[in-house]
Amino acid sequence: MCALGIQGPALIVAGKSAAGLLSQTWRTSLDETGIAHAVHAFGGECSVAEIGRVKAAAQQAQARVIVGAGGGKALDTARAVAADLGLAFVSCPTVASSDAPCSALSVVYTEEGVVHEYRIFGRNPDLVLVDTQVIARSPPRLLVAGMGDALATWFEAKTCFDGNVRNMRGGASTQSAVSLAELCYRTLLNDGADALRAVQMQVVTPSLERLVEANTLLSGLGFESSGLAAAHAIHNGLTAAPATHAFFHGEKVAFGVLVQLVLEGKPSSLVHQVLEFSTEMGLPVTLADIGLGDASSDTLNQVAARGTAKGETIHNEPFEVSPGMVFDAIRAADATGRAWKGNC
Ligand SMILES: [Zn+2]
Repeated sequence: MCALGIQGPALIVAGKSAAGLLSQTWRTSLDETGIAHAVHAFGGECSVAEIGRVKAAAQQAQARVIVGAGGGKALDTARAVAADLGLAFVSCPTVASSDAPCSALSVVYTEEGVVHEYRIFGRNPDLVLVDTQVIARSPPRLLVAGMGDALATWFEAKTCFDGNVRNMRGGASTQSAVSLAELCYRTLLNDGADALRAVQMQVVTPSLERLVEANTLLSGLGFESSGLAAAHAIHNGLTAAPATHAFFHGEKVAFGVLVQLVLEGKPSSLVHQVLEFSTEMGLPVTLADIGLGDASSDTLNQVAARGTAKGETIHNEPFEVSPGMVFDAIRAADATGRAWKGNC
């Protein structure tokens, strides 16, 4: 950190398992470099209240840098605090479960776990530190969830690029961003299965290294520099149904990808490629897979209404999207997923 001009004291916002895994490492490495540090145990939700608590802890510790360690929500909370207080931010993901680590965006939830707002800050992290030895010891389901998040990147980026819409920073998309998004998708298809086996065995392999790069860096650059479309809006809609709260961001996003492909009328060959990948990895392809097997029409209407709310990225699609269209696409994606599973 010193080489980058980052100075202490540091406040580390750490999830439970991150603290368990890394406390000793922090003590040794930060003490060695003379950086004082305090640890704030992350409360579990990136909410307005938790951001407030971390802010108070940062002020008490007179922190000059905020380090986020853990999953996406811990990182998003730490990022929001660093931005609000004008401090440096170090992102230290201990799982590759989403593309949060490299971005300048925090997704803020209500205490009940419903998406409340996106906060986009002026700068990306000062440092992103990923240790694949640590990722290899994380639960395989979290790596798979990260693949679900990364699965959306290419499809959403392409939709935004083709539609010439503004990216997450309000700028134009670039060829390089779309190329990285495509590389992200190709890496998932090529390395996903091997990387999953590596994490199941808790070992580091070249496939795992590439896959972690896809989940973390390629997906992060791809979505931020090209944009989001229907898949993430569907995810946000799904959070309105409490039954989905037991599922990770990337798991809901993976189902959102299928809904986007149906909504866009993509050829069945492409839908089947995604279904094949998702079922092989264990990502959700049906409503039942995300806790909505017996969801009523009312529930799905609420999901569709939330997913098409004003300002949602579903409006980056190149046609007008109504709640009714989303309701139908969800039902159709679910039926396609069930048929696919039935034939497997
Ligand atoms: Zn995401």
